[in-house]
Amino acid sequence: MLECKEKKHVVYIGLGSNLGDRGENLLHAIEKIEERIGQVVATSAFYVTEPVGFRSDNQFLNAACEVETSLSPLELLDVTQSIERDMGRLAKSHDNVYSDRIIDIDILLYDDLIVHYPELTLPHPHIQERTFVLLPLAEIAAGYIHPVLHKTISQLKGELPL
Ligand code: ADP
Ligand code: MG
Repeated sequence: MLECKEKKHVVYIGLGSNLGDRGENLLHAIEKIEERIGQVVATSAFYVTEPVGFRSDNQFLNAACEVETSLSPLELLDVTQSIERDMGRLAKSHDNVYSDRIIDIDILLYDDLIVHYPELTLPHPHIQERTFVLLPLAEIAAGYIHPVLHKTISQLKGELPL
């Protein structure tokens, strides 16, 4: 019998939008993820959050999803960035100066992998300090142990300042 030999990886992806029809943007990105990255096995609710790190009148809608993929981490980053571009995201953040965006797609966790490439850090370095990441992530990955901090996502959420 033929078997699929390609190894599947479990990946958690964070999504955010604060321009246009934000719900539609998140749904569209999730559709593209399913097409180009792999099966989406869980999706959180969509959370309304305040912009962090910059001032804007436009609140964010944030979500997280779990995807099974055979892509490598850098292939995955290529694809998430091409989805951002195809959806019309113009600017990247520079030197931690953030701005409004149609869609932001961040790779939060990739199996238990820890890497520091120039263009990709895994786990995503800001998971533990961002409510807008931990709220949706805890809904679909509460018991997942952060490979660097050795705490569950639900513990990290509990440690956020009120
Ligand atoms: P932010 O998401 O912080 O608002 P951007 O989406 O503009 O900023 O991303 C800035 C850069 O972060 C990207 O060019 C990408 O190479 C880098 N990066 C590093 N680690 C990750 C990761 N885990 N997921 C997504 N992008 C990452
Ligand atoms: Mg990003």
